[in-house]
Amino acid sequence: MPPPQHGGRPLTPPPHGREATLLPPDEAGHRGSPDSTAFMCPHCEAVLSNPAAAQCDNCLRPLRQQAPVLRVVFPSGELKISVGQHLVLGRDAGQSPVASTFTQYDNVSRRHSTVWLDPSGTAWVRDEGSTNGTFVNGERLPRGVEAPLRDGDQLRLAADVTGTVQLA
Ligand SMILES: [Zn+2]
Repeated sequence: MPPPQHGGRPLTPPPHGREATLLPPDEAGHRGSPDSTAFMCPHCEAVLSNPAAAQCDNCLRPLRQQAPVLRVVFPSGELKISVGQHLVLGRDAGQSPVASTFTQYDNVSRRHSTVWLDPSGTAWVRDEGSTNGTFVNGERLPRGVEAPLRDGDQLRLAADVTGTVQLA
């Protein structure tokens, strides 16, 4: 398409005031989150234009990525697992630090399964030889097999209790 003809007349820019009102405010389109402090450099507190960048473009120091956290939300309680932590799920307080979440479920074994988050941010579950099984999205895991967990997966212990995996 050829450029439009202007008949030799000089182009006049629109009046300044009108132009200004047509433009959105500088920040409006860019910041959807009210939590703007999440985008600050932890070293120099500069506001980061790209929070995913490997280094701060103001002070050039490396930006630590936010550590991934695994959550499994059961009706009886929410479990939170950090990188490197292995959390045993079960009814026995001597075996599982979160036993109180499961004591009401008779079919959950005393030591039922283990969930953890590896340094790459992948979440895993392993059945610990439970009597009534560990299930991911309805599929029973063979004893001792490590199965990856993804955000939104349903983790079920025995027939009794189902948790939703949240990985962020
Ligand atoms: Zn900085």
